[in-house]
Amino acid sequence: MTVVSADTRPLTWRLQHGNANLDLKGYEALEGYAAVRKALKEMSPQDVQLLVKDANLRGRGGAGFPAGVKWSLIPMGPDAGPKYLVCNADEMEPGTFKDRLLMEKLPHQLVEAMIVAGYAIQATRAYIFLRGEYILAAERLNDAIKQAKAAGYLGENILGSGWNMDLYVHTGAGRYICGEETALINSLEGRRANPRAKPPFPQIAGAWGKPTIVNNVETLCNVPAIVMRGANWFKGLSEGKSPDAGTKLYGVSGRAKRTGVWELPIGTTARELLEVHAGGMQDGLDLKCWLPGGASTDFLLPEHLDLAMDYDTISKAGSRMGTGLIMVVDHKQNMISVLRNLEEFFARESCGWCTPCRDGLPWGVKILRALERGEGTAEDIEQLSKLTRDLWIGKTFCAHAPGAMEPLMSALKYFRPEFEQGIAKATA
Ligand code: NAD
Repeated sequence: MTVVSADTRPLTWRLQHGNANLDLKGYEALEGYAAVRKALKEMSPQDVQLLVKDANLRGRGGAGFPAGVKWSLIPMGPDAGPKYLVCNADEMEPGTFKDRLLMEKLPHQLVEAMIVAGYAIQATRAYIFLRGEYILAAERLNDAIKQAKAAGYLGENILGSGWNMDLYVHTGAGRYICGEETALINSLEGRRANPRAKPPFPQIAGAWGKPTIVNNVETLCNVPAIVMRGANWFKGLSEGKSPDAGTKLYGVSGRAKRTGVWELPIGTTARELLEVHAGGMQDGLDLKCWLPGGASTDFLLPEHLDLAMDYDTISKAGSRMGTGLIMVVDHKQNMISVLRNLEEFFARESCGWCTPCRDGLPWGVKILRALERGEGTAEDIEQLSKLTRDLWIGKTFCAHAPGAMEPLMSALKYFRPEFEQGIAKATA
């Protein structure tokens, strides 16, 4: 195993120490909970907020919104009332399995991160909203929380600071839309998981109408190392690779030789991920196209492999970095079938709240199924294009349907002849 250090791989260096991470004493021996001590004893909540803002930690859930800016929008001061911190651990983006690694292997790291983040915003209660299928993660996080509470890191008057916070694991029931932060909040409150209108953003009116910060698992897990090593160190981690700061958990899935997830400087190229870390495509297969970060991003081509995997570079190429876990498609795969599979997922996972999404997504699936059977009509391709315009941002209630349109739109752009082959001969 390559030896990595806390200075270069802050999220995963402790993995070299195996089960020490599941046990409080073992974790403490690996610099564990040092950031809680430092933040609560040496820093004000505003100091922590400013530090994270200065570090340019961008949200790792997929959107890349700066975490420190988000935190700075929450009301502070003695009259702010109850406030909540929620970790979005409802990881369900197809091809994305990075937060699972952090929660199953390093549960104390997330608990520590939530204590520091909770202190920064002066949260009164915190929740980990966990994907229901992540049963091992739930067990390990609950164990870690129990141990942390017994050691005085959670509960009342934490480390004598006068600040109280409890932390709970709340498991979801297996719906993709619960990963959308306002649908997640509705679900946490016991309501139907449909998104709410934004603004107001949750920072102002979130869970039970109170100010709430929702951050992704990986985003939060960066916070203890930033507190320990500073903003300049964090910004330097990606030196020469990207204007974005820190490292990123990248991954590759599909028919590559060694699929997996790796912590690397943010801005590492897609080629390095696929050819070096994943060992290239399986024998006899060529790369046809790839999704940079989950199903709700646009396809890119082999000619895009030398792009830096960061938010702005991938956006400029016409896609989005999303979660940063690449899905590869090989030359033997039919794009209509790939799309039909993806769009079936999005249609099934629509919460049904707004009409364009509820009715438009199944309509797209119906057309794709007909094209896949070779029974499409000459109008079908234009109908699919129209759908990508009608289900776009601003025409639906949340980002679910626009996300579903990204792979479809880009597949129509790059692989139109394959769709034309699905038109029934008699109607062509
Ligand atoms: P978004 O850009 O609307 O918001 C991202 C975050 O920034 C939110 O927390 C939001 O509150 C905040 N924000 C945005 N604009 C703001 C403003 N003006 N003021 C204050 N706060 C603001 O994106 P989204 O709809 O929350 O998320 C979409 C992303 O989620 C996609 O990029 C997709 O890749 C990703 N995604 C991830 C998973 C997963 O399993 N990790 C699943 C589905 C989707």
